[in-house]
Amino acid sequence: MYKTDRKLLVDELKTKGIIDINVLKAIGEVKREKFIPEAIKHYAYKDVALPIGFGQTISQPYTVAFMTELLSLKEKSKVLEIGTGSGYQAALLFDMGMEVYSIERNFDIFSETLKLFDQLRIRVKCKCGDGTLGWKDKAPFDGIIVTAGSPSIPNELKNQLSINGKLVIPVGDKDTQILKVITKEEDDLFLEENYPQFKFVPLIGRDGWKEA
Ligand code: SAH
Repeated sequence: MYKTDRKLLVDELKTKGIIDINVLKAIGEVKREKFIPEAIKHYAYKDVALPIGFGQTISQPYTVAFMTELLSLKEKSKVLEIGTGSGYQAALLFDMGMEVYSIERNFDIFSETLKLFDQLRIRVKCKCGDGTLGWKDKAPFDGIIVTAGSPSIPNELKNQLSINGKLVIPVGDKDTQILKVITKEEDDLFLEENYPQFKFVPLIGRDGWKEA
């Protein structure tokens, strides 16, 4: 089911500027409808963000593809995602052959998505907790992707990058954010690039927003 819709979504993302063939291949393979509540499954292949319950959203496919492209991952890289949510982003990275770690702070979302990963045999290592602190015992990571908007760049995440590793993170106020790509060139030497304009749900934690 939805095979044609997936192909059309891949074509749409190509026209919107996504060029990484590994990302496009994964978008063409991962069944986005599995990560979306039953009642709105028919929207699965529209290029829009959708509600997943608990006030959270599954990001727009274009945003997921663009952020993944910005990570510039080599095969079998070790990647940390902050904000597991529906699990779609993590599933995409797993489909691309990455070693994936993911942290979610909301326990209800965490448990539901863990069940789904199990059902779909998606082997992502998950943890429930505050992702602004990273995952120290598993560091360093070749890529860290933050899928919620942060007021600033959490220091721990920069520290947990490997040399040449990239952190992709939306930074701004609660309404709009700039997508920042931080590359660790050497210990304590970071290159910062900016890509405007996105809108994510807030990253809540010690080095994020305080609880509303
Ligand atoms: N990557 C997800 C997008 C989820 S939306 C997907 O593909 O569907 C962002 C998620 O980040 C929400 O589930 C929210 O609960 C979570 N979140 C917010 N702050 C967090 C933090 N400090 N640590 C871990 N998860 C966090």
